[in-house]
Amino acid sequence: MLLPDGTLYLDFNATTPLAPDASEALDRASRQVFGNPSSLHAPGREAKALLEGARAALARFVGCNASEVVLTSSGTEAAHLAWETALAGTLRKKIITSSIEHPCVSAQAERWGARGFHILEIPVDGRGVLDLQALESALGEEVALVSVMAAHNETGVLQPVAEAGRLTRAHGALFHTDAVQAMGKVPSPWPDARPDLLSLSAHKFCGPKGAGALAVREGLRVAPMLVGGGQEGGARSSTEAVPSVHAVGVAADRARDHLGESRRIEALRDSMEAELRGRWGALVHGSGAPRLPNTSFFSLPSADGSALAAALDARGIFVATGSACHEGGSGLPRVLKAMGVPAGTRTPLRVSLGVGTRADDVGRFLDVLGETLGA
Ligand code: PLP
Repeated sequence: MLLPDGTLYLDFNATTPLAPDASEALDRASRQVFGNPSSLHAPGREAKALLEGARAALARFVGCNASEVVLTSSGTEAAHLAWETALAGTLRKKIITSSIEHPCVSAQAERWGARGFHILEIPVDGRGVLDLQALESALGEEVALVSVMAAHNETGVLQPVAEAGRLTRAHGALFHTDAVQAMGKVPSPWPDARPDLLSLSAHKFCGPKGAGALAVREGLRVAPMLVGGGQEGGARSSTEAVPSVHAVGVAADRARDHLGESRRIEALRDSMEAELRGRWGALVHGSGAPRLPNTSFFSLPSADGSALAAALDARGIFVATGSACHEGGSGLPRVLKAMGVPAGTRTPLRVSLGVGTRADDVGRFLDVLGETLGA
């Protein structure tokens, strides 16, 4: 996507620009709707109507009932609320997750481990896909929660959450999926994976930052982290950020409409990868697995991703090296180590396309990359 100053944004997995109508909704509600949605008078009712409208839009987006949507401040908070809900008061003492989760899950695992839970990380194969056999053998009566992301933020690899959900249910444990990267890029995993808990974040689908939601399957009682005024039916106290939540609802409806764009985006991504392989011998991580249509995570044999990202930035092209990728000695991101990528592999680049990315944009990226590489 070309920005107004002519620079080029290709980092949609990090965050997305606000959809124009979400931006208008945010502005309008900020100026005109100031009531507290818990107030019973007209301004309060007006604010409440916006909240409930957004909740209904999120429910359409996820495929759940509006009564199953809890509004949160972020994907991170939603994942925390999911774990708290699954684990508070349980007598089962084992938690299963994967070796490639986002830190909002893996850091929680460490915390719950320190509280006496046994944490097991299921490995992924060389394509970056969860090992379902290992999951099946790890499940048992002592497992309280299985938490597996729907799509990886760096590789874009889609995880087999439908199968993981089925296995988890068969053992009577609860299933959470971090669907932050999946929502808006592929159909919602809610109907197939049937998770008990699904977390999402608005800024990944052209909604505002600092807004997310947790879908909680009917019948499961939320264990609130924030207590006080009893908002969100007691699931999350604090006065709701009405303008922002209103914009989330608009963005969710828009993202649902845009799912049809994914074929076009995938074709662009695939043609870009063909060039990257053909011209510079790129190794595309996770390309053997089903992936998000917009994401490409690759290493070039001739240059480190970190150097290339900096050079591209200087030319007004914004891509990523992946997130939090500098842990460990080799400098490779955790997900690549988990996939068993050889230690000498150059650090990767992540290019993530989005609404508004055109073939010309990809062409410009490839031209400038070629000039940077001197090839
Ligand atoms: N989960 C995944 C897979 C993500 O990619 C991110 C954000 O990068 C998050 C969770 C956290 O979402 P938020 O930024 O809304 O806290």
